[in-house]
Parts: sequence; structure tokens; C-alpha cells
Amino acid sequence: MHDTPPSVPDFTQWPSFPFEGALRVKQLDDPVSVEPPRKGEGHRECTACNAPDDAYIWVGERWRVRAMDRPTGLPMVLILESRSHLDLGDLPNLLAAELGVMTVRLERAIRSLDGVARVHVNRWGDGSAHLHMWFLARPYGRLQLRGTFLSLWDSILPPISESQWRENLALVAAWLAEFGGRPLAEPPRIQWQAPSSIAAQSSGQRAAAEAEAEAVSVIEAAEEIPEPAEPAEAGADAQGSADADAESGADAEGDTDAEGDTDTDAEGAIDAEGDADADTEGSADTDAEDGPVGAANGNRARQ
Ligand SMILES: [Zn+2]
Repeated sequence: MHDTPPSVPDFTQWPSFPFEGALRVKQLDDPVSVEPPRKGEGHRECTACNAPDDAYIWVGERWRVRAMDRPTGLPMVLILESRSHLDLGDLPNLLAAELGVMTVRLERAIRSLDGVARVHVNRWGDGSAHLHMWFLARPYGRLQLRGTFLSLWDSILPPISESQWRENLALVAAWLAEFGGRPLAEPPRIQWQAPSSIAAQSSGQRAAAEAEAEAVSVIEAAEEIPEPAEPAEAGADAQGSADADAESGADAEGDTDAEGDTDTDAEGAIDAEGDADADTEGSADTDAEDGPVGAANGNRARQ
């Protein structure tokens, strides 16, 4: 056991870091000798392989694109999946090349939406063995959301309106369909169609059923990490009271003075680190991020 907890890293002072106040580094669990199977691995069912096409916003011969089950905090969060049950490193050359084309195409489609400044592309893969790439839209002008913590901010921001969300989905689906495949997301139905029409009602019901089906796979990546994290936190709490006191003293200084100063200094750091390091750090960081992101998504979905 540590007598002295590891110090809190500098990124907790970055303007993009979503939390403030007293923080301490979580105790690491001992590494397991054999990792548990992900979804779609070993005896575990694959949600992606089992999902019908109508759970997606766009489908093609070898790729499908799905949305979350409800409006997100970010203007757009999408997942690109291969139809074949393969992980990233297992893609044959044809699919590997197409992944590049699809990634560029989807990035451009999402970036074309009003109010989107940047599209972050992530692949974690800790929850499900079936290749799935995340596309996260960073809202224009929200400089605080730049960089590594965007996926955390998605769960913190209030969700965008349902009509805006559906309109964005329809625009992206239509954009992709320009190159082939089938768009499945339609413009907002309830606002744009007479609610009394039978067609609108049946499509509304279909949308609700889709949402339920999608909810499962959206959370899947998350489920793996938070479970072991909780007992570890409880353990740390037991011994952490003294440590927490020491840290809250340090953090209190940061809260009062540092805001103005670190904002200017740290921004430079973020530009450098966010763009350069975040890429290289990405692989290491994302492992860590998958947990918190998953936990947040899971919580929201459970609500
Ligand atoms: Zn699969």
C-alpha cells in the first residue's frame, strides 16, 4: 500500500479537464493474469452481429453506422462498425482500406453539421471484440472541450434537443448515402408530420423499439470497466481520509489563484499536448478513459 498517494497529474489543471476541487489518484488494482472475454469473444454474444440493420442510421455492404439511443451532450456521437466480426488488427486489406475511406467520409459528414468544429475519432475496443470506431463532434467555439476529455464532456453537457439530434442523424445518413448504401435515419417525424397520421405513429413506435435495441450495444463498451472500478474506490476510501485532507489544502490554492493564470499558460500546453501528445497518448489514455466514459454513459442510460 502507498504511504504517499501519487500526485495528481498536471492535466487536472488544464482548462479542458472537466472537474475541479479535491482529487486524488485512484488505487490501482493488481493486474489480472487472464483478462475476461469481451462481448463477441469466447462464450459472449456479439451485440453488433445480432443487431438488425434498422438499428443503424446508415448501412452498406460491409459497413454500418449507428447512433446512441438518445440525444447526446455533443452535437453528434456515432459508431462505425464493420459488418464482419473482426477487430481492427484482423481486417483484411480491402476492409482496412475501406476503413480509411469510411473514416474520412464520416468525419466530413459530421463536420458539415452546423455548429461542429471538429470530429474526434477514437477506437477503444475494451468492451466489445467487434470493431467499432467512435466519432465525437466537438461543438464550435467550445474551446474548453478541445482535446482528450471530449468524451467525458459528452456525458456532462445537457443533451441537445431531440429534433436537432434527429435532423443531424438524417443529414449524416443522407451524406453517406450519396456514396452508396442505405440511409435509415429520417428527419424528425413528430415535428414534421401530422401526429394523427398512421404512418407517423407506426414509425414512432418503430423508433422507440429501435432505441431500446440500441441502448444495449451503446453501453456495452462501458460495462466492462466500471464494475471492477467500484470496489477499488471503496477500498481507497477507507484509507483515503487523511490523504484527502492533505490534498484539499493543495487544491484550494489551485481553485482561488490558479484559474486566471493557468488558463493562459495551460492553453498553450493543451494546444501542444492536445494536438501532438493526445495522438500519441491516445492509446494509453483511452484505456483509462474507457472506464469513466462508460460509467457515465451507463449511468445516464440507467436513468
Ligand atoms: Zn460481431
